[in-house]
Amino acid sequence: MKQLLILLLLAGTVSAQSKREKKVVFVIADGIPADVIEKVATPNIDKIIAAGTYTRMHVGGGKNTYSETPTISAVGYNSLLTGTWVNKHNVPDNDIKAPNYHYHNIFRLFKEAYPTKKTAVYSSWEDNRTKLALSEYVDLHADGYELDTASFHHDKQRDFMHNIDEKVIAEAVAGIKKDAASLNWVYLEYTDDMGHMHGDSPEFYKAVSLMDAQMGKLWEAIQYRRQHFPEDWMIVITTDHGRDEKTGRDHGGQSARQRSTWMVTSYRPLNNYAKYYEPGIVDIMPTIARYLQINIPDSVAREVDGTPLIGKVAIAQAAGTFIQGNIDLKWKALEDAGNVKIYVTTTNQFKEGGQDEYKLIKEVPLKQEHALIDVKNLGGSFYKIVLETRLNTVNIWVK
Ligand SMILES: [Zn+2]
Repeated sequence: MKQLLILLLLAGTVSAQSKREKKVVFVIADGIPADVIEKVATPNIDKIIAAGTYTRMHVGGGKNTYSETPTISAVGYNSLLTGTWVNKHNVPDNDIKAPNYHYHNIFRLFKEAYPTKKTAVYSSWEDNRTKLALSEYVDLHADGYELDTASFHHDKQRDFMHNIDEKVIAEAVAGIKKDAASLNWVYLEYTDDMGHMHGDSPEFYKAVSLMDAQMGKLWEAIQYRRQHFPEDWMIVITTDHGRDEKTGRDHGGQSARQRSTWMVTSYRPLNNYAKYYEPGIVDIMPTIARYLQINIPDSVAREVDGTPLIGKVAIAQAAGTFIQGNIDLKWKALEDAGNVKIYVTTTNQFKEGGQDEYKLIKEVPLKQEHALIDVKNLGGSFYKIVLETRLNTVNIWVK
C-alpha cells in the first residue's frame, strides 16, 4: 500500500513536471571569439554554465564547400534563425537585401505550430525583427533605439551602444517577468563595436564584462519565472562570429578564429553529437525547436543544415563525393541500431517555394556509415540528398 502511494506520488510529480510550459530565451552577444569569452572573467555566465553546459561552436559553413558562409553579423543571425547556411538563407552581408524566406525561421515555425503562444524580440538592431525574424511572427518587441538619436546621442566612443544594450536588457527583463513569451530573442551589439574600434584590448574585454552582468539580469528574470510559474526555461547564449587573429578588429573571413564561436546554455546534458563533434551555429535552431516541441514540416526539416544538440540523434556529419555517375556517401552513426533511408532529388524547387520529388534510392544499416549510390539514371548534375533515420535527418548537396 505504501509502495502504491509512493508510485502515485511519483506519477503525480511526473505529470506536474510535464505540465510545466517550456520557454526559451536565446541571446546573441555580437562578435566574441571563443578564446575571449573563455579568457575574460564572466561570473554570471559561469553560474549558467554551472547549471548547464558550455561548448565551443563554429560559424562560416563548410569551409571551401558549397555552404561556405561569410563570418558577418546578419549572416550569422540568419543561420541561427533558420538553421541553414548562406547558400540557402541568402543573407550574404549586413544589407539583408533578399533573404530567402522559404527557409522558415524559428519564429515562423513556432507561430505556425502554436498560433496562440507568444514570441518576443528585444534587440539593439531593428532589422533583426523587421527583416529576419519578420514582424508578423513577433508578438512583442523592444527595438529601434539606434534610430532614436535624441535619446541615444551617437557619440564617437559609441558608448550610446552600451546604453542601448542596457535599455534592451531592461525591456527584456521586464518582458520576461511580466509577459513571458515562449520564444524570446535578445540581441546585443556593444561587444562588436568595441572589437572593431579597439581590437583585442581592455576596452573590448570590458564590454564582455558588461555583457556578462546583463546575462546575470536575464538569468535572474528566468529564475523568477521558474519559481513563481509552472514553467521550464532554457537560455542559450551565443555569438555570431569570431575576430581576426592578428588584431581582433575584423571579421568576415574563414580563418580559425573568425570561425570560432561558442554557446552557453542552461540545458544539460547535451547529446552525443554535441559531445563528440564541434557544433555549428545552425544547430541552435533545431535544438530550440526540439525543446519547444515544434513539429517542423518534413519539407522544411529536409533543408535544415543543423542537428539538434539535445535529445537523441542517430546520424550526423554527412558528406558526399560524385564519382563517375555514383555518389559516395559517408556519415557518423550515433546509435547502434536502425537504418538510414537515402533520398535523392535533382531539383531545387524548394528554393523557389515549390516542392521537390525525392526518390528513395537505398536503405542501409546506420552502423555501416557509408553507401555508394548510383545516380546515372537520375540525370542532372545537382543532387540534394537526405539521409533519414528514426530520430533525425541530415542533408547535403552534391554538385
Ligand atoms: Zn557581428
